[in-house]
Amino acid sequence: MIELKPCPFCGGKARLKRLRGGYKTNPTTAIFDSWQVVCQSNCCRTSEFEDEIYHADNGEVVVKHNGAEEAAETWNKRV
Ligand SMILES: [Zn+2]
Repeated sequence: MIELKPCPFCGGKARLKRLRGGYKTNPTTAIFDSWQVVCQSNCCRTSEFEDEIYHADNGEVVVKHNGAEEAAETWNKRV
């Protein structure tokens, strides 16, 4: 779990928000949840980042996109 820096504008706490849960079934069943980091006092937010997580044919779990992590990284970069 990535730690979130405080909001660059108001100094408030930030939190990770799941905007919606989603999945696609072609070619495999993949998770496509959508994530965003928002400031507690709602003054700013990142754009949305989608997951893309699925099981490969060899049984390995592939995390092509970790939306939660990408949203958090984007948030932490804007200082
Ligand atoms: Zn703020």
